[in-house]
Amino acid sequence: MVAGEVCTRGCRFCAVGTVKTPPELDRNEPSELADAVSKMGLDYAVITVVNRDDLPDGGASHYRNCVIEVARRNPETGVELLCSDLDGNLGALESLLKNLPLRVFAHNVECVPRLDEKVRDPRASFKQSLNILKMAKKVRPELLTKTSLMVGLGESEEEIAEALVMIRESGVDMITIGQYLQPSYKHIPVDRFPEPERFADWDQMARDLGFSAVASGPLVRSSYRAGLLWEEALGGDPVVTRDSTGSAVSHLFSEEQAVSVRGQTS
Ligand code: SF4
Repeated sequence: MVAGEVCTRGCRFCAVGTVKTPPELDRNEPSELADAVSKMGLDYAVITVVNRDDLPDGGASHYRNCVIEVARRNPETGVELLCSDLDGNLGALESLLKNLPLRVFAHNVECVPRLDEKVRDPRASFKQSLNILKMAKKVRPELLTKTSLMVGLGESEEEIAEALVMIRESGVDMITIGQYLQPSYKHIPVDRFPEPERFADWDQMARDLGFSAVASGPLVRSSYRAGLLWEEALGGDPVVTRDSTGSAVSHLFSEEQAVSVRGQTS
């Protein structure tokens, strides 16, 4: 995570601390980040960020410097940027993405639109997030886009289906769906824990809508097996069907795996 340890936003599901005036950006961060990726020998790195509403470009130029330096020093490493909404600043997004050496541009819608006010910072919204994802696709049509949706926040089944349609209609290629877990008693309580089979249904729904890579499951998070999910989006095997200890579930499962899922829910 770059651009600081604290965020200018205060989303009610998020464990990251909130501050109105964060410390200045660390100008050494791009190079130190590139060092860290190099030392870890990563094949694939997801760089995420805090919102920087205090900066005119929302932090876009710093995020860009981080991605460029990581890619320059680690040419074999795939880079995914899990970006903020840049406060809806589409010009800053365009500057950020121009010729940026990225495999995936990700930005999370987090929850269904009706729950924006309850769940997200007042400056964030489903609509604004979709605009960011749409603009990313417009500026860089070849770049894969990705988002993530949490369940267990009070949404209905119908609202999940509607959200998936809206996301897909915005040109988003990849999606992850996971269970919201309450980081502390100060955060929004969990509304429900859908059974794994429901996550398998949402996986199917997303595949039917044409998402090219899907991970859905109680413990799936937005960066869940990100490198493999990128391969899936390019036509590789669905991540959920690979041998793994992963927690994504799907009706694409083998019979053996399906029995295991049924076992978890009985
Ligand atoms: S903008 Fe992101 S990092 Fe900041 S509080 Fe919201 S979810 Fe957390």
